[in-house]
Amino acid sequence: MKYVQVVILKRAGEFDDPLTYSIPKGLEFECRTGRGAKVPLRNQFVNGIIVKENMDLPEEIDEKKVKPIKEVLNFSLTAQQIELAKKIAKYYYTSLTRSLRLMIPTAIWKGKLDEPKKRYYRIRRRGDVTAPTDIRGSKQKEIIEALTGQEKVPESDITTSKATIRSLIKKGIVEEIEKPSYEKSDYKIFPLKDFKHKLTSDQEKIIEQIICSTKPVLLHGITGSGKTEIYLRIVLEAIKKGKQSLLLVPEIALTPQMIDYFKDYFGPHLALFHSKLSDGQRAEEWWKVRTGYAPLMIGSRSAIFAPVQNLGVVILDEEHEWTYKQESAPYYQAHHVGEMLSDLWGSQLILGSATPRLESIHKGKVGDYTYLRLAERINKKELPKIRIIDLCDEFKQKNFSILSRALKNKIEERLSDKEQVILFINQRGLARAVVCRDCGYTEKCPHCEVSLKLHRDSQIRDPRSEIRNDVLICHYCGFATPTNIICPECKSPYIKHVGIGTQKVEEEVGKIFPEARIIRADSDTTRLKESFGPIYKAFKDKKYDILVGTQMVAKGLDFSNVSLIGIILADVGLHVPDFRSHERLFQIITQVAGRCGRGESVGEVILQTYQPEHHAIKMASEYDYEDFSNNELKFREKLSYPPFNNIIKFTVIGDDLEKLRKHIEVEVEILEDIFKANDLDFKIIAAPALIPKMSNRYYYHVLIRSKNPHVIFDHWKVPRGWRIDVDPIHTT
Ligand code: ADP
Ligand code: ZN
Ligand code: ZN
Repeated sequence: MKYVQVVILKRAGEFDDPLTYSIPKGLEFECRTGRGAKVPLRNQFVNGIIVKENMDLPEEIDEKKVKPIKEVLNFSLTAQQIELAKKIAKYYYTSLTRSLRLMIPTAIWKGKLDEPKKRYYRIRRRGDVTAPTDIRGSKQKEIIEALTGQEKVPESDITTSKATIRSLIKKGIVEEIEKPSYEKSDYKIFPLKDFKHKLTSDQEKIIEQIICSTKPVLLHGITGSGKTEIYLRIVLEAIKKGKQSLLLVPEIALTPQMIDYFKDYFGPHLALFHSKLSDGQRAEEWWKVRTGYAPLMIGSRSAIFAPVQNLGVVILDEEHEWTYKQESAPYYQAHHVGEMLSDLWGSQLILGSATPRLESIHKGKVGDYTYLRLAERINKKELPKIRIIDLCDEFKQKNFSILSRALKNKIEERLSDKEQVILFINQRGLARAVVCRDCGYTEKCPHCEVSLKLHRDSQIRDPRSEIRNDVLICHYCGFATPTNIICPECKSPYIKHVGIGTQKVEEEVGKIFPEARIIRADSDTTRLKESFGPIYKAFKDKKYDILVGTQMVAKGLDFSNVSLIGIILADVGLHVPDFRSHERLFQIITQVAGRCGRGESVGEVILQTYQPEHHAIKMASEYDYEDFSNNELKFREKLSYPPFNNIIKFTVIGDDLEKLRKHIEVEVEILEDIFKANDLDFKIIAAPALIPKMSNRYYYHVLIRSKNPHVIFDHWKVPRGWRIDVDPIHTT
C-alpha cells in the first residue's frame, strides 16, 4: 500500500503539518504531487494539496487510523510550485500551508477550484439534415441566422433573451457547449505588432549578454536608458522557446505607461496581477497563466508565484524598491524567491534598477550575479542638475520659511513660464530625529551609527520611575541618553527635532504663491488605493501648477511638463534609525530627480538640507552611484551589516514590560549558547521597537546578526507569539 501527504487548504494555523492518507484503488496514477484532493478530516470532507506522493507509511503512524483520499480534484499546482513552497517554508521559517497559500488565489482556496468556462451556442448537427425546420418568430430566426455558418458563438454575443435560446435547445435545433475560457495560445503570434523602436547598439549588446548569462543579471541602467525595451525583447526571446515570463513592478498602479506599452505587443494575452483586483479577478488572471493563454504576467510582488508551466525569465524592475519584501508572514523577499525559481526551472532572473540595492551590487562584485551597465540615456538626454541648498545658511540669514530663497525664486520663474513644479517630502523619515539648525549636527548612537530617536515621556525606561524626561534612544542596542540642550559641536541652542508634513508645505506654499493651483498627494489624500490615478492625471493635464507629494510621486511616472523639483528637506531620510537609511535616501533623490526634465527642457532639482556635506546627499546630487555604493559597502562591512551578515528579526509583544523583558532575556541566553556551541560569530540585540507601545502593549525586537542565523532553528523552538522576519527590510 502506498500513501500520500496532503496539506489542508482552508485552516492555516490549525493544520500546519501535512496529513497522511492512503491511495484508493484506481487513483494511483492521479495521486501525484501538486494535485488537489478531497480528503476526510474529522466528520467532514475538505480540500487539500498533495505535497508528497508514493510514500511508505511512516513508522509512527498507525495504519488503522489512516483514511483514504476521497477523490482527486480538477486542480493542480506544478511540481515546481510545491518545491518552491517547501523551500520558502524552510528559509522563512513558516508552515507549508502558509507558503502554499502564496501560490493559490483566495477564491480558489475558498473552494472555487474549477477552471473558468465560457458558454457557446451552435446549430445542432444531426446527420445530413441541415435545414432546421421548426423555427417560430423573428427572435428565433435572428438567433439561427447568427449561428448559421459559425463553428460556435459565445453567449455574450447573443442579444436576444435566454428564453428564446432555451426553447431552441428544447426543440433540439440549437445546442449549448462549454469550453474553458482560456486555452494555450500559439506563441508564434507574438509580438502582435511591429516594434516601435529599433534597438540602439547599447541595448543590443546588453540583450546579447543577458541571453548568454548563466547567472542572474543585475542590469544597472540610469533612468531613461531604455530598460523597458530590453525587458520586452528578452520576454519575446523566451516566448520563441515556448516559455512564459514574469515581469514584476513595485506597484502596478504607478506603472500605467509600462502596461500600455506591453499591451500593444500582447493584447489580451497579458495577465495582470495586483492588489486592486477582486478575488474573482485574481483567480481569472491566475488561470490565464496556468493554461498558457498568457505568455507574460505583469504584476506586483505576489506575481512571482504565478502558475507558469514553463518558466523562461523573471524580471524585477526597480529592483531596489522595498515593496519586493512582504511585510507580513511569511515575510519573503521577491529577489530571493526569484533566485529559487531560476534554480528550479533553469530560468533567467533579471534585476533592473538605476540605483540597485547594495545587496545586489555586492553579489555583482563577488560574481554571484552578472553585472551589466547602461550609463547613457536614450538620445543622450541629460539628467537634471541637482543643486544643494544649505538650510543652516538660510537660518543664519533669518529666513525661517520652509522654502529657501533659491527655491522660492525658481518656483516663481517656473510659474510665470507656465511650467510645472513638484515639491517632494520624504515621509518615511518622519521619525523624530534631533538636528542642530546652525551646524547640521545630528545625534547618533556611538555603537551602531544609526540616528537616535527622540522619545517624549519615555515608557521604555522603567515605567515605575518618576523621571519623565525626553530621552534619545538607539533602536538597535537600547543605548539611551538625555537630550542635549545645546549642540555639542557648535554650542548653538537651536538643536531641535525636525520633520515637516505635506500639509504644512501645502499651506505655506499657498501663502507665498496665492495664485498657484496646488494639489497634494500623500497617504491622506490617497487613502483609497485608486485615488492617486486621478491626481496624477489632473496634474499631467496641467490642471495644477504645483504637486506636493511623498514617495508616490517618485515612482516611474512620466511628467513631461515638470521642469523643477524641490526636495524640501532631504535630511529627514537620513534620520530613519536604520542601517539602510543612506541607501534609501540616495535612491529616493535619484528617483525624484528622474521625474524631471522628461519633456523639452532639461529641468532642475533644488535639494534643501541641513547637511550639505553628507556623503549620501553629495553623491546623489552628482549621480555618483559607484562612489556612494563603494563607500557604503565599506561601512556595512565594518559594522557587519548585510550583505556581509544575515539578520533575523523577531518581534515580541507583551502586556507587562517587566515580564516581557525577563522572557526575552531568558531566550536570548539560550540563543547565545547556540551560537557559541556552533562556533559562530554573532550579535544579538534586544531593543524596543520604533513604536515601543501601542494600545497598551509593549513591542520589542530581537535582532540576530550572523553569517548563519538559521542555525538557531535546528536547536531551539521559537516561543509562541514570536513573529519571525528573515532578512528584514526594516530593522527597528
Ligand atoms: P528606463 O526604463 O531605463 O528608465 P525607458 O524604458 O522608460 O527607460 O526608456 C526611456 C524612453 O526611451 C522611453 O520613452 C522609450 O520609449 C524610449 N526608447 C527606448 N528604447 C528606444 C530605442 N531603441 N529607440 C528610441 N527610443 C527608445
Ligand atoms: Zn551645531
Ligand atoms: Zn546603538
